[in-house]
Amino acid sequence: KIFPGDFSGNPMQRNTPKVLFSTIEPAGFDHPKMIAFNEKLSEEIGLGKFEEKDLGFLVGNNLPENVKTYSTAYAGHQFGNWAGQLGDGRAILAGEITNNSGKKTEIQWKGSGATPYSRHADGRAVLRSSVREYLMSEAMFHLGIPTTRALSLAFTGEDVVRDMMYNGNPQDEKGAVVIRTAESFLRFGHFELMSAQQEYKTLQELADFTIENYFKEITSEGVQKYKDFFENVCRRTADLMVEWYRVGFVHGVMNTDNMSVLGLTIDYGPYSMMDEYNLNFTPNTTDLPGRRYAFGKQGQISQWNLWQLANALQPLIKDEKFLEEILNDYGSYFWESHDKMLCKKFGFDQLLPSDEKFFTNWQSLMQDLQLDYTLFFNQLEKRDDKTDLKAQFENVSYTFLNEKDISILEDFIKSYHSRLEKNTISKEESLEVMKKANPKFILRNYLLYQCIEEINIGKTEMLDKLTKALENPYEEIYPEFSAKRPSNYDDISGCSML
Ligand code: AMP
Ligand code: MG
Ligand code: MG
Repeated sequence: KIFPGDFSGNPMQRNTPKVLFSTIEPAGFDHPKMIAFNEKLSEEIGLGKFEEKDLGFLVGNNLPENVKTYSTAYAGHQFGNWAGQLGDGRAILAGEITNNSGKKTEIQWKGSGATPYSRHADGRAVLRSSVREYLMSEAMFHLGIPTTRALSLAFTGEDVVRDMMYNGNPQDEKGAVVIRTAESFLRFGHFELMSAQQEYKTLQELADFTIENYFKEITSEGVQKYKDFFENVCRRTADLMVEWYRVGFVHGVMNTDNMSVLGLTIDYGPYSMMDEYNLNFTPNTTDLPGRRYAFGKQGQISQWNLWQLANALQPLIKDEKFLEEILNDYGSYFWESHDKMLCKKFGFDQLLPSDEKFFTNWQSLMQDLQLDYTLFFNQLEKRDDKTDLKAQFENVSYTFLNEKDISILEDFIKSYHSRLEKNTISKEESLEVMKKANPKFILRNYLLYQCIEEINIGKTEMLDKLTKALENPYEEIYPEFSAKRPSNYDDISGCSML
């Protein structure tokens, strides 16, 4: 599958005008070592079982003859500013594979070496970032959230210099490669690039290609087709944001080059699941002090990103008023879906006008009492627990609960019970709704940290346990994982990125 445009440049050059891809091969690594392989995903996409001879493939070695590898060019707005041309700086695509039922899946290596879009960076990835991508994308999938996926995780056998400092010196880290899969890795930034370069013919071909392959629900033609496309991307994006809010996922780098046109979660960098509820929480240390990509801002930022996509599509749609209307409606669609999602977390069967106030009170309670987002809802599911509230919620709070806190909590629980009385579904049905909306296991940052430390010294017990837990997030498999973050990990909320 090749986008229009002919590649005729120096493969090590960054600028590739009129072209959305460059052919490039993985660097090749002499001593690959498998860390994890996702058998189920492999079968599902049509790759079949892993065999020893496939080891090299995991890091991009010994490619089959018919595989033509390439990286794509895109642009983007980073932290609110136009960043110009970017591209797959450390991702190389192997094209698509078709399974028995005709479903196509794109496959790419991440960390397999420099590409024409690497600029001054090395195209490598370290164990830390690779484990984070491998586990979190699968965790999101099993939570039921649209995402790119991860097929394998392997050491390259070489060391990579990164920003982890020991005694003031940069420390080598083990290099690793993740194979990622997705229906498509197309981003807002691909459209922004073509538009910014005023290559409107290619822009249109890209839009046509995207609609034909990934938006089969669109049947209109002419300009209406592009309008429907934009409206669709808006809806998928809003739906994705609501899902992130449901489980407490903070992406951390919502630049437009990290926004999937298909509405998938993409680019697992300095993300984190949120432990204590905090609208200002950002795991990205480079996002301070602005906190542009904080938990509570993700809805609003997604709309800002869609404005950039609207600008990019304007040459095809030529109707600013239409685009403005769609974007103005975005907020109300998002908030309504968001509040309906919260209703499910609380076990309410429908959104009532009075709920807005209930939710606002709840938000202050969560922040004031530093309550764990996930565990709080797990506690609510035990609503008939007769033990006293103090005991029940002490295990869920990151602060000492004094008498005043407890009385605030009591008032809230009272208001919760009277709100439940307005339900038209049975108590059992309500609990069933809650069970589906509230995970019992989330992949907390400190757990990832522990897992990476272990793999670094050759142990995989934690990796195995986390894999099992994340495949069943609505059950409590390991009670020790369904607990709040231990206090010695209080500063493991952020992470460095590469
Ligand atoms: P991100 O913040 O992960 O979205 O990365 C922004 C841009 O930098 C993307 O175009 C990446 O492909 C590129 N990039 C990130 N890390 C590396 C690396 N180690 N080598 C080359 N390019 C990179
Ligand atoms: Mg990126
Ligand atoms: Mg990244």
